[in-house]
Amino acid sequence: MRYRCSHLADSLECLLLERAFCSYSIKMAGPQGNNMPNSEQELRRIAGEIEACTRCPLSRTRTRPVPGEGPPNAQVMFVGEGPGRNEDIEGRPFVGRAGDLLNELLASIRLNRESVYVTNIVKCRPITASQPVERQSHEAKDRRPTSEEIDACTPYLERQIDLIQPKVICTLGDTATRFILERYKLKAGNISKMHGRICSAGNLKIVPMYHPAAALYTAQLKATMQRDFRKLAGLLEQTTLG
Ligand code: SF4
Repeated sequence: MRYRCSHLADSLECLLLERAFCSYSIKMAGPQGNNMPNSEQELRRIAGEIEACTRCPLSRTRTRPVPGEGPPNAQVMFVGEGPGRNEDIEGRPFVGRAGDLLNELLASIRLNRESVYVTNIVKCRPITASQPVERQSHEAKDRRPTSEEIDACTPYLERQIDLIQPKVICTLGDTATRFILERYKLKAGNISKMHGRICSAGNLKIVPMYHPAAALYTAQLKATMQRDFRKLAGLLEQTTLG
């Protein structure tokens, strides 16, 4: 198996993007690939395990765990860092303003949110400080998950990936990018250097991107994400439709 990361050459990229937008008609989830009824059942089983999970201290401060959502045969998976306040309340990934931006970016390349699988590295909200539990969901601030929390939780993500067998994994933000690239024995770097690259691990493509939450207040980052999503569109044109 050959592993590599590369930027699309600019001229080739323009050509591919033109083609992508002219002929783009994604069939994101098809009958081929994994055994869907079994995968669906198994994904539900994993979600049930997550609901009851007490493997790490985040179980004590969560409102609801957030296993992830999407079709069991999704060809594209988005992996973020962890649930935030809105996700913790609703038990669904990317439902706040960052989720709105993700939906907008997906729509910009004609991808339905319902056709992709969306999840996180850790399934319960990492928060700062040790306020009384009943006040935490309103007053606590989000933080990065610790390495212990990541170690405790990522077996769930790995099982989800193995079941879904996506063709493309888009990592959102530094933490998700590092974990996924290292899982596939690829060299990980800072997201400011890695974003927009197309990394190959056998047949799987990995596309690191900024986390939408980071782009909410910075127009420049949002423009960067829009460009990276257009690269994703070009990649999907080649890999999922080719
Ligand atoms: S973050 Fe993961 S490992 Fe920790 S309690 Fe939640 S589901 Fe379990």
